Amino acid sequence: MPTPDTTTSLETRTTRHHAALWDSDTAAAYLSEARGITAETAITHRLGVVSEADPAERPVSGYLALPYITPSESVVSIRYRCIRPSCTQDNQGEWRDTEHHEGHPKYWSLPGDRQRPYNTAALLSNTDTLVVCEGEMDTLTALQCGLTAVGLPGAQAWQRPLRLAMQGIRRVVILADDDAAGHQFAGAVAADVDGAEVVPVTGGDVTSVCTANSRERIRELVYGTH
Ligand SMILES: [Zn+2]
Repeated sequence: MPTPDTTTSLETRTTRHHAALWDSDTAAAYLSEARGITAETAITHRLGVVSEADPAERPVSGYLALPYITPSESVVSIRYRCIRPSCTQDNQGEWRDTEHHEGHPKYWSLPGDRQRPYNTAALLSNTDTLVVCEGEMDTLTALQCGLTAVGLPGAQAWQRPLRLAMQGIRRVVILADDDAAGHQFAGAVAADVDGAEVVPVTGGDVTSVCTANSRERIRELVYGTH
């Protein structure tokens, strides 16, 4: 558990990062163009960006900030994602399918932090169908599709006791990205959650398939076409 001092610090950072978001053309382009994330989602989930002028966070200067917010609206962690145009876009300004992050991490976690589920409010919601996504950004996309979604920051983040949080939910659907890591992730979760269904996201991941088709396409993957 974060200490009270840490919690205050995380809250302060989240507020500062969120305020900086609206001044960042890079973040606006990444969220809206590359990811299809709306301003409403950015506000609800308190997304932010690390100000270039902030010396305390120099290792992640310019990174997107993804706060982990509890159902009681406390910030218990923040993960940071590189959105530098030189990493995410090619020379023509097109968004890369495969990003290049050289000499720095794509994702950065606070020192000593442990991996945990993203959007835990979904685990307590009154839903018949819970969707499990790989990564924070795909979780946000699934939420925009009208799904009740929880995320994990990669296959390694799955921990067996988390199955207990899903036992009271009628249907658990794991959306598996169309790559080796995605199948590893889905397999790890499905092995532990009784009755969980693995739904392949053929042709990409939740975000890419949603932006290439429609939000309805993602809903169809989960609920079928009836
Ligand atoms: Zn990068």
